[in-house]
Amino acid sequence: MNCFYHHETEATCTCVGCRKGLCSYCGSISTPPRCADCLIQANEKERKSFLYTLIVGSFFFLVTAAVLFIAVGSAAFLSPLWWLLLIVIATIPWGWRFLHSLFPVFFFSTSIFLFLLHLIFKAALSVFAGIVVMPWQIISAIRLSVQNRTVRKKFEESL
Ligand SMILES: [Zn+2]
Ligand SMILES: [Zn+2]
Repeated sequence: MNCFYHHETEATCTCVGCRKGLCSYCGSISTPPRCADCLIQANEKERKSFLYTLIVGSFFFLVTAAVLFIAVGSAAFLSPLWWLLLIVIATIPWGWRFLHSLFPVFFFSTSIFLFLLHLIFKAALSVFAGIVVMPWQIISAIRLSVQNRTVRKKFEESL
C-alpha cells in the first residue's frame, strides 16, 4: 500500500481513524497518525470540548460570585482571598477535563461504591489540578485551531 497523499511513497502506517495508508512523513504529522480529514475532525472535537469547559468554568465562576455577593456582600470583591477562591472554583472543570483524559470513568467494570469513590477523588484532585492545567490547556486549544487551518496544506506538501 502507498501513502494516500504521496502515491509514489510506500505507506509505513495507517490512519487510526479510517485506515488510509500514510508514509513516514504524513504519519509524523500527528500522534497517533491521522490523515488530514481525521486530524481536522479530532481537533474540532477537542475544540468543542474546550469551549464546553470554558462555559462550565464561567458558570462556576458566576454562581460562586453570586453566592459570595449574597453571603458576604460587595466587600467580598475587595479581598484578594475571595478572588483566589473564585479562580480556584472556576478552574475546577479544567482540572476535571485533564484528569478525565488521564483516568476515564470506569462505569461498568466496578461497583457503585468504587465508582463514587473515583468521582469524589477526581473532584478533589480537580481543585488542585485546575489552576495548574488551565493555562496549558488554553494554549493547546489555540494551537489546535491554528493547526487546523494549515493541516491540509501540510499533507499535500511534496516530499
Ligand atoms: Zn483518516
Ligand atoms: Zn505521505
